[in-house]
Amino acid sequence: MKFNTKTIHGGQHDVDPAYGSVMPPIYQTSTYAQSTPGGHKGFEYSRSGNPTRAALERAFASIENGKHGLAFASGLAAIDAVIKLLKPGDEVISTNDLYGGTYRLFTKVFEQFGVKFHFIGMENADNVEKYVNDNTRLIWVETPTNPMMNIIDIKACAAVAQKHDLLLAVDNTFATPYLQQPLDLGADIVMHSATKYLGGHSDVVMGALVVNDDDLAEKLYFIQNASGAVCGPQDSFLVLRGLKTLHVRMQRHCENGKAIAEYLLDHPKIEKVYWPGFESHPNHAIARDQMRDFGGMISFVTKGNNYDEAVRIVENLKIFTLAESLGGVESLAGHPASMTHASIPKEEREKTGVVDALIRLSVGIEDVKDLIEDLEQAIG
Ligand SMILES: *Cc1c(COP(=O)(O)O)cnc(C)c1O
Repeated sequence: MKFNTKTIHGGQHDVDPAYGSVMPPIYQTSTYAQSTPGGHKGFEYSRSGNPTRAALERAFASIENGKHGLAFASGLAAIDAVIKLLKPGDEVISTNDLYGGTYRLFTKVFEQFGVKFHFIGMENADNVEKYVNDNTRLIWVETPTNPMMNIIDIKACAAVAQKHDLLLAVDNTFATPYLQQPLDLGADIVMHSATKYLGGHSDVVMGALVVNDDDLAEKLYFIQNASGAVCGPQDSFLVLRGLKTLHVRMQRHCENGKAIAEYLLDHPKIEKVYWPGFESHPNHAIARDQMRDFGGMISFVTKGNNYDEAVRIVENLKIFTLAESLGGVESLAGHPASMTHASIPKEEREKTGVVDALIRLSVGIEDVKDLIEDLEQAIG
């Protein structure tokens, strides 16, 4: 089955044996009647499993070309489950330009349980192997990165992971499986904040993991059930519905993203535009190799690097909504220095490029002329 068919039909055969409903029913139940102790029809308690969630988990596996999907209450709950595969003393090599919540989970929660994290620049994959030692268990990759839109070579990281018998996990939230499929590139675990493009409508918070290996799936399923950060059936239904248009939405996100990136690049008041589709992007060749297209996430800096001017621009936008998050049908704008990265000291954030005037756009699927007019009036 091709990708554009999988988004609609992947894992969705025979979802309602009772009435043949085309969409899986929302099984809003916590438990299931048993005919005799242990005699049930595959589900016994909704933390352990729920038919609506199971339909979604099969869909996740299908679109990522994996065998096993797992759905969680949030993206962070999915990451939490991955790190719980580790033990005190284990070490993780992680991308340094990382989603802020992931960084917080690693440093503020898991470091106190004795897991050690190395945050490094991975734009040059040779750098990764330097940090491998006897305690290393996991390489954590986010690509494209947030908000600097760096690109990391997944195949090269997979080669390091294989050589040293490590797990490679890829946060595929920004790219989605429409643009890149990390399992096919050698990753062991794909992770998503399904809150973003997979859900696609800014109406649900959810996380996902997809793996191929049966043993790894069993360990993660054990953690999912034992820790209990599962998503409910209503939310599972919403994301199943969102997935069905993922490919058409992504196509438009990419088209609009390209038009806006090019508009910004030509703008006299703009100093720099970060978007992996430009040939001048340092890892454009890797992006072209591992991604089908370049997506709708763009960051840019205005000339003079003025904090107040950047704030004024995001406040003046009318169609772009000033908000955290990304990946919905509607365009959003954010100012990392005062929003997502406000808790990081200025010198620290500026080291990774998060300067005062950096603005991040999640380009939606509205008419691109309206979006460009909106940017035009706000930038002035
Ligand atoms: C939002 C996000 C997360 C966290 O997901 P939640 O659903 O908010 O818990 C992780 N990684 C990336 C890249 C994200 O954008």
